[in-house]
Amino acid sequence: MKRPDLHNSLASSAMTFLLFTGMPIQAAELDEWEHREEDTAQSAVADNNHAHTPPEPSNPSKSAASECRRIEGKLASIFQNECLERNLVITGGVSVNGALILYKEYPPLPSRSPHGRVLLIGGIHGDEYSSVSIVFKWMKILDKFHSGLFHWHVVPLLNPDGLLREKSQRMNANGVDLNRNFPMPDWDTETADYWLHRTDSDPRRYPGKSALSEPETHWLAREIEQFNPDVIVTVHAPHGVVDYDGPKNAPYRLGRLYLSLIGTYPGSLGNYAGIQKHIPVVTIELPYAGSMPTSTEINNIWVDLVNWLRRNLGTQIRSVEKNQETEPS
Ligand SMILES: [Zn+2]
Repeated sequence: MKRPDLHNSLASSAMTFLLFTGMPIQAAELDEWEHREEDTAQSAVADNNHAHTPPEPSNPSKSAASECRRIEGKLASIFQNECLERNLVITGGVSVNGALILYKEYPPLPSRSPHGRVLLIGGIHGDEYSSVSIVFKWMKILDKFHSGLFHWHVVPLLNPDGLLREKSQRMNANGVDLNRNFPMPDWDTETADYWLHRTDSDPRRYPGKSALSEPETHWLAREIEQFNPDVIVTVHAPHGVVDYDGPKNAPYRLGRLYLSLIGTYPGSLGNYAGIQKHIPVVTIELPYAGSMPTSTEINNIWVDLVNWLRRNLGTQIRSVEKNQETEPS
């Protein structure tokens, strides 16, 4: 089904405003308009192991720049310097093999009271290449058009050891499925039972020795504690749906991806944050792990996500932020 051309009309009205006033388009429009910039269809881009050979993970990265070089070297649709230009910073989080977990903050702006805090995470599973690449594409949009509508923390690659090895793998360097390593009541029995009996001890679903046994999950749990997000958006592949855990209204559709609840697994981030901490967790399952959606679809998912966030976080403006708000005169 062809989507209504809502965003094209927004784009043209925003453009008209810019052309006739010569003034920058203000906040709210930008979050929707921004996406039209690159709204030209292109064929899916292969996104798995390509020509470049990344350095071995046994040589730990020492800086955000060197980490970026390794990421660019691995992902076909992240072009030269595209990661570096995002100016990611060190979080303090380090993988099993010593790779840095990088992130970028898009903070509240003085002129705006943000609707809420959003934590966006790609690459929990190292062989889901598109889940990393698409977060970089969305960061490029935010770099250009962040208007302060939301306060973002963006982590494009939580599992660098899984991705940045010669043959990328779902698990981290300890062979742990990070998305089964988060705490829950009776973690030991719940995750063990599930792994042994429901997955037949599938090594790709190994939950680890104990909850948060892995440095990557340990770091993310602390980040959730400190940032206290109102929503967590996490990107996976290849189920081609939107999954959701949490108390609020799930998004019915993002781009061409429709809501389909595919289950809450013991030790998953959705279980931990969505069910236990009551933080809405939107899981975007891209249709292919090894190839990107078209530019149009990348933009459409983003626009729909921002609109859903706007509708669902609009009423959660905290009083402290209200007090800091300065209305434009
Ligand atoms: Zn995944």
